[in-house]
Amino acid sequence: MGFEGMLYHSTRNKENFCNSKKAILNGLCEDGGLYVSDRLPDIKLDIKALCDMSYNEIALTVFKELLPDYSEEELRACISSAYEGKFETIPMTPVTNIGGDYLLELYHGPTAAFKDVALCMLPKLMQVALKEDNRKVMIVTATSGDTGKAALAGFRDAEGISISVFYPDHKVSDIQYLQMATQEGNNVSVCAVNGNFDDCQQGVKEVFASSVYTELKEKGIYLSSANSINIGRLVPQMVYYIDAYKQLVLKKVIEIGDSVDFCVPTGNFGDILAGYYAKLMGLPVRKFIVASNENNVLTDFLTSGTYDRKRDFKKTISPSMDILVSSNLERLLYYASGMDDKYVASLMNRLKEDGEFTIYEDMLKEIRKSFDCGYATDEDCKKMIKKAYEDTGRLIDPHTAVAYKVLSDIKNRNDYEPLENNKKVPQIILSTASPYKFAKDVYSSIFGVLSNNGAEADGFAYMEELSERTGEIIPSGLKGLKNKTILHKDIIESGDMNSYVLESALELFK
Ligand SMILES: *Cc1c(COP(=O)(O)O)cnc(C)c1O
Repeated sequence: MGFEGMLYHSTRNKENFCNSKKAILNGLCEDGGLYVSDRLPDIKLDIKALCDMSYNEIALTVFKELLPDYSEEELRACISSAYEGKFETIPMTPVTNIGGDYLLELYHGPTAAFKDVALCMLPKLMQVALKEDNRKVMIVTATSGDTGKAALAGFRDAEGISISVFYPDHKVSDIQYLQMATQEGNNVSVCAVNGNFDDCQQGVKEVFASSVYTELKEKGIYLSSANSINIGRLVPQMVYYIDAYKQLVLKKVIEIGDSVDFCVPTGNFGDILAGYYAKLMGLPVRKFIVASNENNVLTDFLTSGTYDRKRDFKKTISPSMDILVSSNLERLLYYASGMDDKYVASLMNRLKEDGEFTIYEDMLKEIRKSFDCGYATDEDCKKMIKKAYEDTGRLIDPHTAVAYKVLSDIKNRNDYEPLENNKKVPQIILSTASPYKFAKDVYSSIFGVLSNNGAEADGFAYMEELSERTGEIIPSGLKGLKNKTILHKDIIESGDMNSYVLESALELFK
């Protein structure tokens, strides 16, 4: 292999480079760091040209820059097969109005969460990479609810790849649970963990660092990740930020070069980081607003400069954001520190040893130029779901409602500046899940609790009633769940994840 495309190295060490295919196959670096490219801030996209392109053409343009070791032919094949016939709307990720603001609807894919956009693509990119590498891949993924199902749907029956998903027992919505527990396919395993999402994520990291990793490697089976730490997930997520900008240009809300704000419901910091990457490459964004639920570790970090995960984990009605260790923040720290690998390594070491770290004041200032933040409680969220419906006619899920609340708080601040160069800066909320995935919380926030002969109604009854009363269609992937068989019933302790992965891998590749 030549030097071509050897762009990627660890956030914690610049010595070992690899190309994007290897980075996608590996998922995580061996030293525990995340793959980054020092070239990224030097790439400048031609925004005017992008505004004339289709979604798929924008994807091709971005991929050619960041995945340069894939041939154009390979990329075109991945892009067309990833999305064809999978999304229920045209455009795939429409920008619509919510009052005077905008929603970027990312939930019209097969599993009704934004993670579909990237997880339809990742298996395609991985399979191409496998052509040059005879390994078998075992995907090991922790999920707070949505990644798991989207990854299972994306990787189901993919040749040469198997997948194992771990979710926190009783800490996902009933619909999310059914989506995963009924997953079909010959290459999948699904398991509940007695703990929270961070336990699952930590468990996955430990599997990678354990003897299971080497034991499987000797058999030609390599572990990899479908979490947003994989660049094969991050890069496809950049595309919808650019496409959203394009849609506002086409609607004549903005002219090319004008700035927009994005408000993003955030957990593992993957979605918002993809937007920041697009900004580094030239997309005109004024602010990214990091919207958190009561697990507000990022609000505190962006306010004080101290990241402190030593706090109680809270179970909320926006479970996909119930996270205290936001893995992708490490990549922001890398770029914001002027690509200082030693510094990032020292911060991550502190986090591991002491459960916290503090960054330089200047660095916090630098980050605050591009990032604002806030958080919402469950009560706030429920009020905003009702308010959105009553004031604007829009049905939003609890994750989107977190962002809606945080945006509204920011607009009410004294120092809030609605204009830039005398023009209003449009604000785009990333709408990350279908309200039907959380039908019970959405319905009861607006209309009150639904009873079923005295007992509380189940998720499906809520779905149907919500559709009945609002006239909005239930996504087809959720509708069919009711009649599916539960296929996965395993529950383990997080300490047993190593052996579970080993057994699953040997079984699935038998
Ligand atoms: C995963 C998820 C998020 C958080 O995205 P991150 O990339 O983890 O920050 C927000 N909303 C929904 C519905 C999700 O599934």
